[in-house]
Amino acid sequence: MNTSTLDFEKACFVSHLECSETGSRIEADKLHGLSTSGAPLLVKYDLISAQNSFNKKELSHRPSNIWRYRELLPYKSTKDIISLGEMMTPLIEMPLTANKLGGESLLIKDEGRMPTASFKARGIALAVTMAKSFGIKKIAIPTAGNAGAALSAYAARAGIEAYVFTPEDTPEVTLKEIAFHGAKTFRVKGLIDSCGKVVNGGIDEMGWFDMSTLKEPYRIEGKKTMGFEIAEQLNWSLPDVIFYPTGGGTGIIAMWKAFKELKEIGWIQGPLPRMVAVQTTGCAPIVHAFENGSDSVLKPWNPVKTNVHGVRVPKPLGDRLILRTIRESEGFAIAVEDFEVEDSRIATAKETGSHLCPEGSACLVAYQKSLRKKMIRKTDQAVLFNCANGLKSPMPVQTLELDVSENIDYSKL
Ligand SMILES: *Cc1c(COP(=O)(O)O)cnc(C)c1O
Repeated sequence: MNTSTLDFEKACFVSHLECSETGSRIEADKLHGLSTSGAPLLVKYDLISAQNSFNKKELSHRPSNIWRYRELLPYKSTKDIISLGEMMTPLIEMPLTANKLGGESLLIKDEGRMPTASFKARGIALAVTMAKSFGIKKIAIPTAGNAGAALSAYAARAGIEAYVFTPEDTPEVTLKEIAFHGAKTFRVKGLIDSCGKVVNGGIDEMGWFDMSTLKEPYRIEGKKTMGFEIAEQLNWSLPDVIFYPTGGGTGIIAMWKAFKELKEIGWIQGPLPRMVAVQTTGCAPIVHAFENGSDSVLKPWNPVKTNVHGVRVPKPLGDRLILRTIRESEGFAIAVEDFEVEDSRIATAKETGSHLCPEGSACLVAYQKSLRKKMIRKTDQAVLFNCANGLKSPMPVQTLELDVSENIDYSKL
């Protein structure tokens, strides 16, 4: 074994967990849910030791997958890794789209290429890796769909039993995908909060570990890799602004944590990106709280009326962390309309070849609106998230019939 493999194997720098509200310390060597005050826990690292143990040059020799940021991730041993082949996803330049919308520099981070075709794989890969290493045998999750698909697949890989609860109108293809990987899959009458109650109610009797968004600390750590990748792919500079479709908020919180860690170890300098939470007018609790100057979502959004499934969270558990991230980064929150999302999705597919999922398309609409309202500058470099493969969502197009029993009039095609 050469020394760099040995270092990689040993390079876990987690020091403790911290309550995101009170700052109280909790030991990291056990599997935890929420803090004693009911807030999400954040993983803390000995960043000075991490800084001394790796550098950008060494990183450049590592495989291009999410595990390469080893020193800033929580897993103890490379033997614990539960992987389905997560890769670094491309940042795709969209010069024509930027131009059309009045901007100059637009990049799409295309997460549809991840295992189970969404960025949920990043968080769930780390969370299942940690759960498995702590000896967990059964996991349950409430989900709008993609987190369930990822959990079902990673649990299969890890030999863990999975129970998945989804709102009844979750897209059929996603429900099938979840069940296909072997999780016990239930459609629940109601929204994601009803699913959450089912999971919570069964913890004692079923012996489940609760993998709900932000109820365990490691999904955030997996989603930090989006931030690390953007920084590395832009040669350790950062974009001016990031548009992120915000449901539970894991990603926006996680990228901000990643940027602050990179800054602390001296790998990036200068201002961090403005973080923009994108929601739809049919479910915009974060936008509402942001505009009212509130530091939390005071009551769950009701009624929820949007087909953009990824943002259908009436009151995220991480509301305070999301709002803190937006304000600390001098970003903002913005709501778009469902019809704009669909129109822009269709236009983008035709005009650029990029197939955005509805949530990705929502970011594009938000980018356009922000330019128009001068909330961002046209020269700003913007990164948008395409969170999932567009094929997971219905495609509203018509195909034509052709009768080949008659002579074909080619001029009419
Ligand atoms: C989960 C999900 C989101 C929301 O992500 P959070 O990090 O939970 O805010 C957005 N879009 C899609 C497609 C998702 O699956």
